[in-house]
Amino acid sequence: MPTTLRRRTLDLAGIEVPVVEAAGSGDGPKLTVIAGVHGCEYASMAAVRQWSAHLSGLDLRGSVRAVPVLNLPAFRARSPFVVPEDGKNLNRCFPGNPDGTLADRLAHATFTQLIAGSDALIDAHCGDLPEALEPFTLYEAGPAEDRALSLALAYGLGYVIRQQPGPGQAVAGTTSEAAAAAGIPAITAEAGGCGLIEQAAIDLHVRGLDGVLRALGMIAPPAGREAGYGTKGQGRPDSAPEPPTMLSRFIWLR
Ligand SMILES: [Zn+2]
Repeated sequence: MPTTLRRRTLDLAGIEVPVVEAAGSGDGPKLTVIAGVHGCEYASMAAVRQWSAHLSGLDLRGSVRAVPVLNLPAFRARSPFVVPEDGKNLNRCFPGNPDGTLADRLAHATFTQLIAGSDALIDAHCGDLPEALEPFTLYEAGPAEDRALSLALAYGLGYVIRQQPGPGQAVAGTTSEAAAAAGIPAITAEAGGCGLIEQAAIDLHVRGLDGVLRALGMIAPPAGREAGYGTKGQGRPDSAPEPPTMLSRFIWLR
């Protein structure tokens, strides 16, 4: 039976957020994929949009919910990093607060309606409007970290960062941290940036998301070809498999 796609909107803190739901023919994991937690990360948004559309052609086990643009207030205002209504970075507000400002409420609604109850979470990012970056994947130490690491490796980007919660933690309140705290394996995957929709960055995300489907057993591996690692730098997605560089800390240099 083919995979059926359904497009609808979810009411998240009063915002009608488009979501693509793919229901496979067999039982399997519930995978949630989000992009656009930051409003001007167009490469990752385009990647999740393209990837979710191609799910109908796959023989899928389990189900997928994909949100190409979560932070619609920032997207519509072309506001990098922060929700314009309250100046807060949505990806520092998880798991959210139903009584807070818009970013807190959007985080809470996203956590309770999309993240909780998932078997895995992928949050696709890129550099925001004035931001370039080297592709990397971030996951959190904790009870779900072995499964999160397997998702990070399956995504295939050149660097994988394991973040330890506690003092010195550079990035807190993210989707993937809140999911990890709830025992849900999760990664933040970053490729692309600078407000550009570059095909190479889109390809890295699409290949990464397909790799996640294979790692979760939701699709069969490609015949005659191992699921491989990705590339470092601006490398072509089709270059030879190469293991990622594993990093143990995330540090901001300003
Ligand atoms: Zn981001």
